[in-house]
Amino acid sequence: THDIHIIGGGLAGSEAAWQLASAGYKVKLSEMRGSGDMTPAHQSDRLAELVCSNSFRSDDAERNAVGLLHQEMRDLGSLILAQGDVHKVPAGSALAVDRDGFADGVTAALAAHPNIAIVRERVDQLPAEGLTIVATGPLTAPGLAESIGSATGKESLAFFDAIAPIVHFESIDFTTAWYQSRWNKGEGKDYINCPMSKDEYLAFHAGLLAGEKTEFREWENVPYFEGCMPVEVMAERGVDTLRYGPMKGVGLDDPRTGRWPYAVVQLRQDNASGTLWNMVGFQTKLKYGAQVELFRTIPGLEKAEFARLGGLHRNTFIRSPELLDGTLRLKARPNIRFAGQITGCEGYVESAAIGLLAGRFAAAELAGKTLPAPPRETALGALLAHITGEAEVETYQPMNVNFGLFPPIEGRSKKADRKLMYTSRARTAFEGWLAA
Ligand code: FAD
Repeated sequence: THDIHIIGGGLAGSEAAWQLASAGYKVKLSEMRGSGDMTPAHQSDRLAELVCSNSFRSDDAERNAVGLLHQEMRDLGSLILAQGDVHKVPAGSALAVDRDGFADGVTAALAAHPNIAIVRERVDQLPAEGLTIVATGPLTAPGLAESIGSATGKESLAFFDAIAPIVHFESIDFTTAWYQSRWNKGEGKDYINCPMSKDEYLAFHAGLLAGEKTEFREWENVPYFEGCMPVEVMAERGVDTLRYGPMKGVGLDDPRTGRWPYAVVQLRQDNASGTLWNMVGFQTKLKYGAQVELFRTIPGLEKAEFARLGGLHRNTFIRSPELLDGTLRLKARPNIRFAGQITGCEGYVESAAIGLLAGRFAAAELAGKTLPAPPRETALGALLAHITGEAEVETYQPMNVNFGLFPPIEGRSKKADRKLMYTSRARTAFEGWLAA
């Protein structure tokens, strides 16, 4: 016997379960991994496994919208943020985590909670009754996706995301590569940099264009998210696009020349022991053989050994602005809430944030109350409002939290000041909401 059924033990489902259990409700959490099923991106049966980067992005709550979201989630007792903080690895002003320690920590906390029963099973049908949260993510198993499609009366939208390669530390050549964060931010040396001269960069750019790609004919004209765009798609936009994007050399002093390199490939630490480093911005749909060949032309990576190569994965989400009410319930079937990336938010933190809200809304409903939505001026409120109505239905695309979702600040001000205005307004609104 349980008060609520949560389907999917990823970032969102884990957070929702934690919130409900902490509020005293009995949760059944169904997760298909561990029962013989797997998604195309996960690699273990751990809850809240991170499928790609190990970064929760900026932790700056004063100047960054996702940093602000971190803070609001911490204030609401988020399990995902608490475990993220415990398993933090160096990443400048970002919050990056040891992926194994993090997922183990979340799994252990949920397993140990007396109000949570974790059931390893795949669910193929939306439950007809009983309070339910669907948090099955961008890689929702096909049977359930079909059931969702028939309940919503709409086809779910689907496209591909790309993942970046991971390099073994000991295979990096430090006679060429060096440690430094751009402008010496954070610890000052959180990234490994592989510099390129102009000729090397031009050859590399040509190689990206020429390299053999995995074809997905049925998914042509895929609308990639800007933040996760395959490196070769960026290369196609122009010869300098990468050099002004993830490969920019500014703020990095090559110790061999004392100057900024023409272009650079940056690697970020991917696990606590520092044995694995991911290639920042190098999501790709190049074929594996082409990746190894091309990426070993990067100075410092001539002998690189890859723990994982880049790849492409499907991403499923629903047209939330049309389908969901203000507390994330499916209008057509109000016993069912949606949470996480399947609602059309984008990112680990956002997915967990929407899981947190779904959990809290459901807990209020179980208590016979209604929880007012967080104010529009807060990060949680801005993200929720986007998903549950503010976004354009026809062009609805997964979205990271950003100041563009917040109500605009009136009047003219410098960009840096504006960020502070957004966050201080948000803090005031959030504290008022918390107190109420
Ligand atoms: P998930 O974490 O995927 O959790 C869903 C869970 O539901 C899974 O554990 C799955 O096994 C389970 N499940 C699915 N169907 C069923 C079923 N029928 N029955 C039972 N269980 C089921 N975000 C970032 O911030 N940074 C990144 O680098 C990043 N890279 C990504 C790379 C890829 C390939 C993809 C697909 C997404 C990426 N994302 C990234 C986006 C997003 O943040 C993650 O997908 C995030 O894990 C979404 O959280 P979620 O809880 O919604 O889904």
